Amino acid sequence: MSSPVENAGWRQGIAKFFRFFLGLSLVASQLGASGSARLASAASNPARPRLLQDSYMETTQDKGYRFNRGGWIYVHLEGSPHEIGYQHGYLLAPEIADTFAAVRLEMTHDTGHDWDSFRRAARMMLWPKIDPEYQAELQGIADGLEAAKTKLDIEDIVAFNAFSELPDYYVPWLNAVTHASIPARNLEAFEHCSAFVATGSWTKDHGIVMGHNNWTSYIEGTRWRIMFDIVPQTGYRILMDGIPGVIASDDDFGVNSAGMMVTETTIANFRGWNTNGKAEFVRARKAMQYADSIDSYAKIIEDGNNGGYANDWLLGDRKTGEIARLELGLKHTKLWRTSDGYFSGANFPSDPDVIKDETTFDPNNPASGPNARRIRWDQLLNGNKGKIDASLAEIFLGDHFDTFAKKEGANRRTLCGHGDAEPETLPGSTAPPFDPWGAVQGKVVDSKMAASMEFIARLGHPCGINFDAEKFLADHPEFSWQSPVLRDMDAGPWTEFHIGEHVAQPAQ
Ligand SMILES: [Zn+2]
Repeated sequence: MSSPVENAGWRQGIAKFFRFFLGLSLVASQLGASGSARLASAASNPARPRLLQDSYMETTQDKGYRFNRGGWIYVHLEGSPHEIGYQHGYLLAPEIADTFAAVRLEMTHDTGHDWDSFRRAARMMLWPKIDPEYQAELQGIADGLEAAKTKLDIEDIVAFNAFSELPDYYVPWLNAVTHASIPARNLEAFEHCSAFVATGSWTKDHGIVMGHNNWTSYIEGTRWRIMFDIVPQTGYRILMDGIPGVIASDDDFGVNSAGMMVTETTIANFRGWNTNGKAEFVRARKAMQYADSIDSYAKIIEDGNNGGYANDWLLGDRKTGEIARLELGLKHTKLWRTSDGYFSGANFPSDPDVIKDETTFDPNNPASGPNARRIRWDQLLNGNKGKIDASLAEIFLGDHFDTFAKKEGANRRTLCGHGDAEPETLPGSTAPPFDPWGAVQGKVVDSKMAASMEFIARLGHPCGINFDAEKFLADHPEFSWQSPVLRDMDAGPWTEFHIGEHVAQPAQ
């Protein structure tokens, strides 16, 4: 665990480093000043919680506080929507500035669209459809950042919150309708996460066991290390992992006090966008906060579907022991449910109508990453029927067996993905060889943990292998554009988190 002195030095370094990016964003916010004013006036009650100290070193802010454990930053947020946002923005200001700059670089690099275009999309398309509760929370983040002297405005925050849907869903749709030239990188989402949920006779104690590893760029993954304990004024209490500055978990792993256990993996090669829909990050957060059953979860996440970040949602209800998979397309939605079985996720869609009408996915090519991982999930889950528990789930999430090559060895076809070790572009994917992308952290929960609002999580590749950014960039100069933001990704220990914790435990 870092000492306060080390933290101070690190934060000063970050502050210096990102002054450049923040300067750019300031220019952007000045360009969009009239839009910003409209957003600000639409947000509700800006009453600000009391400040205890005016410093980045602040660790407590009204009812909110933060501490570090196992490489994660645990953040407790409590109060009205604006208060929750304000605590979030204030307590995590350095991390939000850092993550915003990294994500902005990725979004603009990968799409060829400038940041102002994402701000416009946030202002004109997304903001009017966001529930007032979450408008207030987002405004709270911007206000908390301002109090911490971090110059990001509400348009930056809303566009940033949509980082999983604007570049990979909205931009391809926009390029198609405007007949824009195809950008250098195909933007369709392909490989995002490996996950499973099992129940009944499949698990050791017959309760629910759920595991998920987050697949994304290492740029994002090294920053996806927040553990949010949220006590909202309405709805249920939430424990979820997340990325600084975003109101949804976004890799979508969490539990709520109504007994819901939630995760997802993305539908590969999905195409579709509805400009009149509600942003996915809002629907996902709302469902995590308000769902008390599989049916109510489905109802909330489907309401106003914009097609963004289209996922196979894996759900568990610890009260009943029932689990479900909700495949949420824009044209088709299908729900599978069982009290004795499992559902796995590895980016493969399952409904033939979704596959045919909404994707270009080939479910029959065993060389593709999603299909290879689907086969591996079936091997592991069938091979361990009746024995599945949290300890086995940890092992599954770090698994390196390639079912296509029929051998051990981490790559982009293994449940624990290591894109930097993948020398090919796999079928269906457009990711370049050696893309630093893959499993960046993992989480596991079972019914007993969910009942006491806790789960276990590990930073970095769930197998424990570390990633050396400097060595990687020396070996692969084609990724030098990432050098300002690519970092080492060291694996942390599997670490327990539960709601209402106040102090860090000794380093393990
Ligand atoms: Zn691994």
